[in-house]
Amino acid sequence: MSETTALLNIGSLVTNDPALGDGALGIITDAAIVMQDRRVSWVGRSADVDPTTTVIDLEGRAVLPGFVDSHAHLMFAGDRADEFAARMSGEAYAAGGIRRTVTATRAATDEHLAANLRRLAAELRRSGVTTFETKSGYGLTTIDEARALGIARSVTDETTYLGAHVVPAEFEGRPDDYVALVAGDMLDSCAPNAKWIDVFCDRGAFDVDQARTVLLAGIAAGLAPRLHANQLQHGGGVQLAVELDAASADHCTHLDDRDIEALAASNTVATLLPGAEFSTRSPYPDARRLLDAGATIALATDCNPGSSYTTSMSLMIALAVREMHMTPDEAVWSATRGGAKALRRSDIGRLSPGSRADILSLNAPSHIHLAYRPGVDLIDRVWQSPLTPKVAA
Ligand SMILES: [Zn+2]
Repeated sequence: MSETTALLNIGSLVTNDPALGDGALGIITDAAIVMQDRRVSWVGRSADVDPTTTVIDLEGRAVLPGFVDSHAHLMFAGDRADEFAARMSGEAYAAGGIRRTVTATRAATDEHLAANLRRLAAELRRSGVTTFETKSGYGLTTIDEARALGIARSVTDETTYLGAHVVPAEFEGRPDDYVALVAGDMLDSCAPNAKWIDVFCDRGAFDVDQARTVLLAGIAAGLAPRLHANQLQHGGGVQLAVELDAASADHCTHLDDRDIEALAASNTVATLLPGAEFSTRSPYPDARRLLDAGATIALATDCNPGSSYTTSMSLMIALAVREMHMTPDEAVWSATRGGAKALRRSDIGRLSPGSRADILSLNAPSHIHLAYRPGVDLIDRVWQSPLTPKVAA
């Protein structure tokens, strides 16, 4: 006998299914959800629920799909609080700081890396995240990248091989030799525990030709591409992401009209990471231009010890609304359904029959409060389905 549970008296339910309710968020008021076998089996008005099921009374709270954090870097040791303080005192952000975390990560034991990952995963869950992606990228040797992905794969289905994060110190002046390693032996060792392949394509990291080499090798090995693009300066990263049908082009801070048109006409999601701009005191990406052109936006934390050490999706929503001119509805959609699209997932980021029962209730009557009450922990309860077996990319 499978367990059936109904969440009753939901004040405002975001389904992200326009066929089920009002507007793009498919909002139902005085709503209920029925869960069976960790899937949503029914959504509708509270008054219409089958009275035989186990019920949980939400007393008018808002309910929405669990947040989907489609971009995080959680496989690391150490922190860079001193670097943050220096930057807030006027120093510029550069990609080179990553090497400090590489040194600390290589020196850490497996147990330490796993414990740090579990700590951050628990933070994410407390902040309402029910699916998160994490990347390697602080090992930068075949052994260290492969162990990071092996540990990551034990806590999330969404693992990304980011051997091409920066050129490590021992390859200084020989970037093409390092690219050959990333696209060769290192890839072979990492692919079994990765769904995605990613490259930091930007100033101080890898150029477009190097990024293409790595992504094509990953695709040939069965991984699906995504790309760090156009964070620090304008370049060809977004065009490359679209050319390769990447699931997501991430950061998108420096875009021209051609980039925006390309994203709008593609299946590639623009993943915006306002925690990075917040923490590096940099200009935010122009979300309004992307939305008005018809591009799909995801919001994610970019949680990492250098440029965005936060696990708070609520903060991302507040920043997107206040600083990037997204509406509260757009920001909440991008933090849920948008994140799911950036991971090419249809079973999460929505609450409609058949979707995973990954559900978040708020100590607030509406999802708008996530932006309206910045800095306040509004997370009431989180329901999260267990991991599925590795999804073929
Ligand atoms: Zn990143």
